[in-house]
Amino acid sequence: MQRAFRLTIAFFASFALCVLPAACKAPHRHTLLWHRTQTQHWQECSDPACDFRTDPEEHEGGVCKECAEFRALSFGFAEGGDTAHSDFAREANEWFPARGAELGFTYDFMRNDYSALNDETLAEYDIVLFLNDRPHVKEQQEAFERFMEGGGAWIGFHSAAFSMVDEADKDKEGSDYWRWYQDEFLGCGNYKNNTWNPTSEPLTVETHEHPATATLPDVFLSAPCEWYGWEYDLFQNPDITVLLTLNPTQEDPAGDNPHKPNEIWHDGHYPIAWANNNYNMLYTNMGHNLQSYNDFEKESKTFSSEEQCTFLLDAMFGLTLD
Ligand SMILES: [Zn+2]
Ligand SMILES: [Zn+2]
Ligand SMILES: [Zn+2]
Repeated sequence: MQRAFRLTIAFFASFALCVLPAACKAPHRHTLLWHRTQTQHWQECSDPACDFRTDPEEHEGGVCKECAEFRALSFGFAEGGDTAHSDFAREANEWFPARGAELGFTYDFMRNDYSALNDETLAEYDIVLFLNDRPHVKEQQEAFERFMEGGGAWIGFHSAAFSMVDEADKDKEGSDYWRWYQDEFLGCGNYKNNTWNPTSEPLTVETHEHPATATLPDVFLSAPCEWYGWEYDLFQNPDITVLLTLNPTQEDPAGDNPHKPNEIWHDGHYPIAWANNNYNMLYTNMGHNLQSYNDFEKESKTFSSEEQCTFLLDAMFGLTLD
């Protein structure tokens, strides 16, 4: 979007330079790649025979909005709410900026101030993240819909898809049910059930034909999470590609709390992460840290599984490709 526009400008500007005798060996269209240090950024032609590069510009930190591979705008409560969910957001707010500094993207966290979901602000970003919850105000929801319809990218985590509204109330005046989001965009409808306690589980990669799963092994061990089931059967939705599944068995159930036998799953085929083929989006169930609710002592990290981290980063880079 914005980035593509800037690249286009740079591209035509550099093409003009390229026809000057000393600029490069044979006239060609430069394919420009970003280069950056902790204090500067510039672009160079990817052709090793070409010595075209832009003048270095100063910036603070390893990446700035100008040279970022993509710019992420993140929402969700990092205090209060379910403390295992806000704990995940606090962790995400350290992990994403650190990866961004290494890999070249920016990360801005708005807490649960969804007023940033407007056309003007969204135009400055490539990808939106919902760490927890989602907007509940119609204008903000509509701005988000326009962003997605216009090719923007999104990743939602765990409680971002959570909704519990009776069928009869879904379309009532003042209903909190966001039809487009739950039914069309996510395709899952309401939250239905969950496992307890949060457990680390083997997740099956259903397809490697997606940037998020292309480099993953066929099965990998997740970080601990509370796993959700959904109202609608995502496998039957032609718009949805299920990427990761949880497949508990009698021998290896999901959930382990003997006081809540209904929240231990012994069978089934559960979608854990999926994409809607009509949007640059991905939902993943991850984002609930294991902790003691008595003293809130942290017992797990969402970013403790190397493969799960690869999945998230590959998803971000894949969804933001122009
Ligand atoms: Zn060149
Ligand atoms: Zn920069
Ligand atoms: Zn949870």
